[in-house]
Formats: sequence, C-alpha cells, structure tokens
Amino acid sequence: MTVKVEVAVRGPEAYSLARNVITEMESVGVWPTPLNFELWLHYLGDPESPLGREIRRLLNDNVVISDETSEMLAAEFLPRGRLSEEIRDAGAVLDRELTSIATAIAKAHKTQADYGVTLADASETMDGAQDPSSLKDLVGGLSHATRRVRRETAILEKRLESSNKEIARLQTHLEQVRREAMTDALTNLANRKAFDERLEELCAAEDASPLTLAILDIDHFKRFNDTWGHQTGDQVLRYVATVMSRVCPGDRFATRFGGEEFAIIFPGEKAGSVTAVLETIRHEVASRSLRRRSTNDDLGTVTISAGFAQRLPGEAAAALLERADAALYASKRAGRNRVTGASTLEKAA
Ligand code: C2E
Repeated sequence: MTVKVEVAVRGPEAYSLARNVITEMESVGVWPTPLNFELWLHYLGDPESPLGREIRRLLNDNVVISDETSEMLAAEFLPRGRLSEEIRDAGAVLDRELTSIATAIAKAHKTQADYGVTLADASETMDGAQDPSSLKDLVGGLSHATRRVRRETAILEKRLESSNKEIARLQTHLEQVRREAMTDALTNLANRKAFDERLEELCAAEDASPLTLAILDIDHFKRFNDTWGHQTGDQVLRYVATVMSRVCPGDRFATRFGGEEFAIIFPGEKAGSVTAVLETIRHEVASRSLRRRSTNDDLGTVTISAGFAQRLPGEAAAALLERADAALYASKRAGRNRVTGASTLEKAA
C-alpha cells in the first residue's frame, strides 16, 4: 500500500473514501469483489499513482474490467505477491546466516583472547621454570592451546565459506525472481512494470540522443477472443510477441503493455527507422494465416495498429505515452492495420 493510501485508510476521510470506492465501482460496472475493492481503494486513494493512471486509462478506453484484468492489475501494481514473499524469505535466510557467522566470530574471538592469556601465563611461568618436566608441561599446554585456536579458525573459515555459498545462491535466486517479476508470463516479453521503469529511466537520463515510443494493439482482439476462446486468443498474443521479439534485438525494448496492447521503446532511434520496424511487424503479423491448434480450424489473419511518438526535449514519460497513444488511436480511427506517427497528427492539427 502506498504511504498516501496507508494514511488515507486510517485518516478522517477513511469511511467516505470507502463509500466512494463502492459508488465508483458501481458506476463503472465493476463487481465489488475484495480484489476490486483493494484496486479501487488504491486508485481513488492515490489517483496519480501508476495503478491510478492505468485504471483511468482502461476506463477511458472502455475496457471491461474482467477478473483476469483485475488479477493482472494486482500482479503488476499491488505491493505484494511472489516478489515480496521471496524477499521476506531471503531476509530470513540472510538473518540466519549473519547470526551464525556472528556466533562463530564471537567464539573464535574468545578462543584468541584465551590464547593470549595462555601465552602471557606461559611466558611468566617460563621465567621461573627450572626443571625439564615443568618446561615439558608448559610446551604441552601451549601446543594444546594452539591446536584449539587452529580448530576454531578452521570452523570459522568453513562457516564463512558455507555462508558465502548460501548468499551467492540467494543472489542468483533473487535475480531470477526479479527477472520473473519483470516478465510477462504468457509472452515472455518484459511486462508493464519493467516498461514503466525503463521509460522513466530513459526520460530521466535526459540523453541528447532521440527516444521513440511505439504502442501496438491487436485489432478486434475482443471479437477474436469471443469467437475462438481465450486459449486461442493467448496464442495470438504469443504470436505477435514472437514477431516483435524477432525485430527488436539489442536496445529496443519490447513489452506487453497490458491486455492486447504492446509497446516498444526505441532508444537512439528516430521516426524513419521506427516506422520501418513497425511496418515490418505489421506486415509479418498480417501475412500469416493462423490455425487453431486443437481443431486445425483456419483462424484467418490478425492485424495490428500502431502509433508512435518521438520524445520532445524535457518531455515527461506520461506525456510521451499520451502522444504515442493518441497516434495509435488515429491508426484505429483511420481503419486499423496501419502505423501512425504523432508528428503527422501534430502537423495536421
Ligand atoms: P509455440 O506454439 O510454442 O510454437 C513455437 C514455435 O514452434 C513456432 O514459432 C514455430 O516455429 C514452431 N511451431 C509450433 N507449432 C507449429 C506448427 O504446427 N507448424 C509449424 N510450421 N511450426 C510450428 P512461431 O511460428 O514464431 O510462433 C510463435 C508462437 O505464436 C507459437 O508458440 C504460438 O503460441 C503462436 N502461433 C503461431 N502460429 C500459430 C498458429 O497458426 N496457431 C496458433 N494457435 N498459434 C500460433
């Protein structure tokens, strides 16, 4: 929960916020499930948060908020789920390792201190020792103390080595979890969270090189899903993602933006090369006749519409996104299956 929402749900406006949540959900036709309540609480409690902006965008686009959409929003934006669980577990492992290292160090420290005392005592005793048997006892005692120190040091070394291994394993595991948390499970493309981070990062860098953002949307996807079912719809999403991945090597950052929408960030590329890439994707997607794997039914072809915008100097990520989105909708309005650049619209305006 963001700090803002955390404060709101325990502040003087808490109950009126909760009532507003119910009213708002009803007015946009969203079922008052616990998950939707939580989503709408975040949305109304902090409308400018990434979740707030995304819900607004979906509502503006008249997207039906199905259970699947809610799950996707929750996975992307609510601060819980697998990553935080894994981080908690990793914290517990680190805690355990650190405690055990601290105990081993304390023990080794005590043994070293005892050894120091033994040496000092031995030195004193040696000064007064006359007969060979007391000298022999002395050396025997020193040798015993030395062996003890060596044993403790070896235990500490072993402990450190095993902790190092455990921490390295943890690092690899957390890196994998982090990657998964940034990846869309269906298409294997980067997900919305990864997209938001990358775009913010690139915009904040204020690099002098151009930065272009494209949004792509599968035409009439809802109709396709209604006709052929979600499973086949998912295959189409995977197909479009595969085509996008093929033409987006290197710095190009292809993501599943949400639902049937995709986005590509083109760092260092201008309108000309971006248009060529988008046209390649558009042609390739439209040129393949798809088959339903289970029945071999001919699914025909799907098409995509795309819009893109090149970042203006100092432009914020949200504004760039808005212009790319407007260009996408221009492609839709003009009959779909086409690519539109924001500059074309701006010149025409
Ligand atoms: P996938 O089903 O995991 O297939 C991965 C790759 O295996 C495909 O990459 C293709 O190279 C090969 N492949 C799998 N099944 C067949 C097949 O029946 N015939 C042929 N010739 N090759 C096959 P590709 O083509 O880039 O497709 C990527 C993903 O897009 C596929 O993943 C699938 O999810 C979807 N897809 C592509 N074409 C179709 C289609 O005609 N029908 C359906 N239902 N899904 C498709």
